[in-house]
Amino acid sequence: MGIPFRQILRIGGYVVRQHLLGRRHYPLVLMLEPLFRCNLSCAGCGKIDYPDPILNRRLSLEDCLGAIDECGAPVVVLAGGEPLLHKELPQIVEGAVTRRKFVIICTNALLLEKKIHQYQPSPYFTWSIHLDGDKGMHDRSVCQPGVYDRAVAAIKLARAKGFRVTINCTLFKGTDPERVARFFDTVMELGVNGITVSPGYAYERAPDQQHFLNRKATKELFRSIFRLDQGGKRWVFNQSALFLDFLAGNQAYHCTPWGNPTRTIFGWQRPCYLLGEGYAKTYRELMEETDWEAYGTGHYEKCADCMVHSGYEASAVRDAVRRPWKAARVAWQGVTTRGPMVPDIPLGQQRPAQFTYSRNVTERLGEIADLKIGSEKGPTVT
Ligand code: SF4
Repeated sequence: MGIPFRQILRIGGYVVRQHLLGRRHYPLVLMLEPLFRCNLSCAGCGKIDYPDPILNRRLSLEDCLGAIDECGAPVVVLAGGEPLLHKELPQIVEGAVTRRKFVIICTNALLLEKKIHQYQPSPYFTWSIHLDGDKGMHDRSVCQPGVYDRAVAAIKLARAKGFRVTINCTLFKGTDPERVARFFDTVMELGVNGITVSPGYAYERAPDQQHFLNRKATKELFRSIFRLDQGGKRWVFNQSALFLDFLAGNQAYHCTPWGNPTRTIFGWQRPCYLLGEGYAKTYRELMEETDWEAYGTGHYEKCADCMVHSGYEASAVRDAVRRPWKAARVAWQGVTTRGPMVPDIPLGQQRPAQFTYSRNVTERLGEIADLKIGSEKGPTVT
């Protein structure tokens, strides 16, 4: 288990408290995206296809700490875009750690060596370095040679300086399970504290639409990978055992999009980290006014093939707290990799996809223009 005991205790206690308080919609992980700009253009990424005026925007330190306080989730993931491009990131991390949040920076690590002196090792702080497989797999995934070697050098440097380091690995169609198994062995030998793995989400704006996995292929791929390692027991995952069991087709979870609320430069994103179908001005508005039943597999066409951790890890954690014996069995015996899978959610009633990207971009560009006019007349708005 790659999740520190302190974190398990805090999150477990937090979930139990929410249940005792009778709360149905509560956050586990705040996904904080202080910018969309990135120094890579990955084929499977749907986050960076915005015009320059939007890519140039940043959430201020004040906005970020305000979002952390407003939301109250025990874990804060800083993503983007590439978060290390944000000049105030060290202060954002410091502010979150001071609030005793477990902070994770998701980075491609290209700037890590240059910026590592701005951060301090802490049991509350983790570098999560993007690595989609071995050298060939990762460099192809990020569309640039040499990135794997730089990320591995950054992992070694961060470990040598005493930081907690995990890798986050997104898998796509055509992945060779044997190669993934060897890659997981390699990162364990590098001394990482854990692996986070997930199938890619089929972003409609991603340049490469050919390599996204459907649900059936996802489950078969994960069974094939875990079969090479007694149900995944040799590797240390930074994820719940029941989420891994879900990826292998042994659990039929509904999505919990409110478990990982997302704050971006546009506001609080509806409904989740992956889909931007509208924005709320406040966290409260997001929670209270989002029609959560309209999303998730079986409800909405864009969610049909999603099995991403940002939607389902919270479902697995809630299940583990309600039925700890299930989680203990998977942790003890490993993920089941043979036999029938549980039936999946039927798709017959899902509503058709709505395409909101162009409207959203037009609205945001209009807001940016209004802000500029306002700032010429009065105080500066960042
Ligand atoms: S299934 Fe859930 S996490 Fe996945 S895209 Fe739909 S709402 Fe988002």
